[in-house]
Amino acid sequence: MLTDQFQRTISYLRLSVTDRCDFRCVYCMAEDMTFLPRKDILSLEELGEIGAAFVELGGKKIRLTGGEPLIRKDLATLARALGALDGLEHLAITTNGSQLASCADALAAAGVRSLNISLDSLDPIKFKSITRTGDLTKVLAGINAAQAAGIENIRLNSVILQNYNLQDVEELIEFAIAKRLDIAFIEEMPLGSMPNSQREERWLSNETLMQELESRYRFQRPDALEDTAGPARYQKIVNTDTRIGFISPHSNNFCSSCNRIRVTVEGRLLLCLGNEHSLDLRAILRRPNYSRDTLKTAIIDALSLKPERHHFYDPEHPQILRFMSATGG
Ligand code: SAM
Ligand code: SF4
Repeated sequence: MLTDQFQRTISYLRLSVTDRCDFRCVYCMAEDMTFLPRKDILSLEELGEIGAAFVELGGKKIRLTGGEPLIRKDLATLARALGALDGLEHLAITTNGSQLASCADALAAAGVRSLNISLDSLDPIKFKSITRTGDLTKVLAGINAAQAAGIENIRLNSVILQNYNLQDVEELIEFAIAKRLDIAFIEEMPLGSMPNSQREERWLSNETLMQELESRYRFQRPDALEDTAGPARYQKIVNTDTRIGFISPHSNNFCSSCNRIRVTVEGRLLLCLGNEHSLDLRAILRRPNYSRDTLKTAIIDALSLKPERHHFYDPEHPQILRFMSATGG
């Protein structure tokens, strides 16, 4: 088992398979993005090798993310290799859903058991204004295809912003209930430099959102939010199969139970979403005398770099210049 200096067990790897995306969501990317040159990104074999080393070290869960993971060519091949790893209990993907209609069956067959699908509005015009390039019809078709492929564990992810989609929350919840899906509301995090983005003006606290929702929905345990291993804290809506999750980096600190590490598509092992502590795994993978044992030792040693908590909102700490899409959300 991997354990860090604060006695947190690390069992969850978020593996970014691309920094590219077919969307340009306003909270995630700047309008004109520069992407990594091909030579700098890990091959599917290198990504698979990191996954295999992590699972040999006791890792139980891998989530493929990005950028938009489904635009990485031959992603299903990587998913199949990871899905076949002895000891891996949970293979998941976070996606914007735009390509799901054509690959949901292959991913389900590869062993993908759960999906987080981003959906910030059900109004096609608003959806376009948030994603800048997205087509809502394709995403809805993707959600249907994932359900038809038998992927049971699907959660919608919505970043709620004032003056953008705050009015869409109820419709999103009703959609989740009708589809028997969970939905998580995520507070926008200040990742990446976005001049004139009005990030502060549009930021909305989950505490405010939850107060509004409590007057409209009855929750099964209104006073006790359900804790899970991840950053989301859930409430179940009575008489439905839907749980509402709140991911609130600002209002509550989930760091004490953090069980995850991230690897960017250039092979940078990031110990925390909100800090720059990292190790270059690509340099290790590309050494002429590479062995999996060296990689495993490097991962174990790197855990001593894992900070106790994020510092997103601490003025004493520099802003994180990595975009969420480059980090692996
Ligand atoms: N492209 C995929 C998608 O959109 O689901 C996977 C990558 S995306 C970076 C992963 C998640 O991060 C999405 O749910 C997205 O809404 C969220 N996200 C992106 N930028 C964010 C930010 N600045 N603050 C909070 N969440 C963010
Ligand atoms: Fe692309 Fe996902 Fe970022 Fe939106 S949130 S720009 S879909 S990577």
